[in-house]
This record gives sequence, C-alpha cells and structure tokens, in this order.
Amino acid sequence: MDTDANGLELSLFYDYDRCEECGDCLYRCQVMGLSREEARDEIRRLRRGEKTRFVDSRCASCYSCNVFCPNDCSPYGLILYRWYQRYQARGLPVRAQLAMPLEEVNFNTIARQHHTARERELVAGWERNASSPEAVAAAGGTVLYAGCNAQIFPCLLDTSMIGDLTVMGAQELCCGELYYRLGIMDVVARQARVLEERFRHLGIKRMYVFCTAGFNILSNVLPRQFGARFDFEILYFYDWLLQRVDAGETVFSHPWKGSAVVQESCHAKVLGRHYADVPRELMRRAGLEVVEMAHARELSVCCGAACGARAYNPIDMGLQSLRQWREARDSGADRMVAYCATCLLLLHMGRILRPTRMPLYHLMEALMQAAGEEANHDLVASRARYIFTRIMARGAPRMVTPKRVRL
Ligand code: SF4
Ligand code: SF4
Repeated sequence: MDTDANGLELSLFYDYDRCEECGDCLYRCQVMGLSREEARDEIRRLRRGEKTRFVDSRCASCYSCNVFCPNDCSPYGLILYRWYQRYQARGLPVRAQLAMPLEEVNFNTIARQHHTARERELVAGWERNASSPEAVAAAGGTVLYAGCNAQIFPCLLDTSMIGDLTVMGAQELCCGELYYRLGIMDVVARQARVLEERFRHLGIKRMYVFCTAGFNILSNVLPRQFGARFDFEILYFYDWLLQRVDAGETVFSHPWKGSAVVQESCHAKVLGRHYADVPRELMRRAGLEVVEMAHARELSVCCGAACGARAYNPIDMGLQSLRQWREARDSGADRMVAYCATCLLLLHMGRILRPTRMPLYHLMEALMQAAGEEANHDLVASRARYIFTRIMARGAPRMVTPKRVRL
C-alpha cells in the first residue's frame, strides 16, 4: 500500500480493496469521454501508480467520479493522491504559486489591493475576531467563517442578511481547499493542525461556513482524511439563511423577474443533494425561475478553477470557464448565478476572454438585490478584471521558466 513520510497513506483517500476495477467512475466522467475499455485500463494504471493516458491531460478535477462509484471508493481521492506523489517527486511549477492562498503573493492578496475602504474595514474586523477569544465569547461561541472566497469579495457579506453573526477569517486560516484539489496534501495536513489549534484557542462552539467548498473541507475532508478534531458544530451558512427567510427575518421585498441558470459547486455534489437544493430554493424565494445547465448537479463540471490541477496550466482553467459559459448561454436563461465565489471569479475571468451579454451574479448579490439592498455588482466584475490582469502580468514570465518549488 502506498504511504509517505508525512503519514499520508493512499487508504486515507481511496478504498483500494473495495474497488473492482469496473471503470464506471471514469466511463461516466463527462469530461474525458472514455470508452468502457479505456476507463478500465485508466483506473488500473491509476491503481498501480503508472503513467496515465488521459487523467493528467484531460481530468477537470471536478469531483464527480466519487459520486459515480457504486462502491463508494473515492476514485477522485486516488487521482489526487497520484498528483500528490507527482508533487512530492517533482515539486510545483512557480506559476502555480499564484493560486496558493498561503503564499506571500496570490490571487487573494492581489484582491486585497482592490478592496474598497469599506471592505478593508470589514476584513480588518474579521481578522481581529480570528485572533480574539473575547470576541468569540461575546458572540456566544458562534461564528461565521469567511475563507478566501469571502476575502476576495468581502462586499458579498456586507449585508443585513447576515444579522448579528460574528464573522471571522484571516489569510493564515485558509481551509486548504485549493491545496487539496491540486493534491498538495502535506500542506493540507499542516493546515489541519493550524486550524485545530486556533479554533480551540478561540473557544468556538458553532461555526457557519459561507462557502460550500469550505464547508465540505472543514466538516468532511479535514476530519476524515487528515484527522482534524474540531469539537464544535459546523453548519452550512445557506441553511441558516433559508431558515431566516422562513422565519421572516429576511424578506425579499424586490423579487426578481425572469430566470437564472445555476453554476454548481463541485463540493455540493459530494455533500449530497440538499447542499445544491438550498441555493436553488433561495433563488426561487428571491423570485428567480431556476434553470439547469445540460450538465447539472452530479454531472456538472468545474467552473475552471480546479482544471488547473492536472497540468498546473491557467489555459486549461480559461478554456473550461468558456465551456461553462457556453452551457449557460445554451440554457436560454436570462442570467447565471454562482453560489461559490471562486466560480464567480473564474466565470468573470472567462467573460474577459470571450465577452458575453449574459449577466453573472453571486447568489448573495442576487439575494441582496431581492432584499432591496444595494449590491455593488460593478465592483465584483471590476475586481475580477483587476485580479485577471495582475495575475497575467505576474504569471506570464512564470509560464516559461522551468523553476519548480516546494511549499
Ligand atoms: S473506483 Fe469504483 S467505479 Fe471506479 S473502478 Fe473502482 S469500483 Fe469501479
Ligand atoms: S474528477 Fe471529474 S474530470 Fe476528473 S476523472 Fe473524475 S469525473 Fe472525470
């Protein structure tokens, strides 16, 4: 059985013994387009740790194969583990550092350069709360975790809809999701220890998590695969928000007219149907007719963000984002809504590559507008443009250097 010096065994990520090499997972994959025989051969190669024919050049890192496996073996975990071994052997090209939230310069620190004065004030408060057991105690131990998703676009949480929730978040409290999706498992393991210690020190009793990715990582991935012990409740923020709507604490006084197509979160697929249903229900309550892409729910494909994982190549990310836009336009909906802010960022970047008239909103923007609040839609789009141009400027020279790093 594969193991490594960090104690991260393959068995933590993939059930080797229950796998029957049936190939269903890769045969049903909506991205790679394999025949049954190719799928069987590819899973055998992955199991043996051999060079793959398709995964390293086509896999979009979308998580769906985990849902397709009838034996619950987590074949996506097997892919991630092979990428972890690749990283261990060869390191990471320097261009990939810009996507790593714990690096000195990355998309998140670039986003901060574009924050408004109001957003800087919000984030400073979140950081103070993330270091203050007193602030957490004053909130009765209940916090709203703002990971990098919220830190890119703090304006999404600048709303009366969050009530009196105490928001906490800081760059060093990254949940590790992006590292996980790239198979940089030793950093995820380190991050699990950092979070365990900080959350214990803060005395957290209940945590709502704003983004679906962060919720899956904190409630499932870190405890099950990295042994993190979080001895408090971890809850989905959108469940809480829907309860507030039910209780009449949030009222959509300015309901939308028309329809919106949904960009799925990869993490909602593995969390279960409920986690994709709740954002849709909130959209309906806000007056939107919900439209699905041709590939929706467990068949949905990544916005593009995780597509960089297979070859650490931003071009793969851009091309996948364009595919999502094509599906969105083909749906005939009036607009697109993403409930993950990283999807929002990638899709806004995609429309820079190929402009489209279809409007794009984050779910929070759509809800704020329906609640009669002013959502700064232009700010979100201009932030995506700002990050895109800065990353292109910094990333272009890195595309051609053979230099590799370890994190
Ligand atoms: S991981 Fe599951 S679906 Fe894939 S080959 Fe093994 S048993 Fe079949
Ligand atoms: S992660 Fe997605 S793209 Fe990659 S093999 Fe699995 S289903 Fe296919």
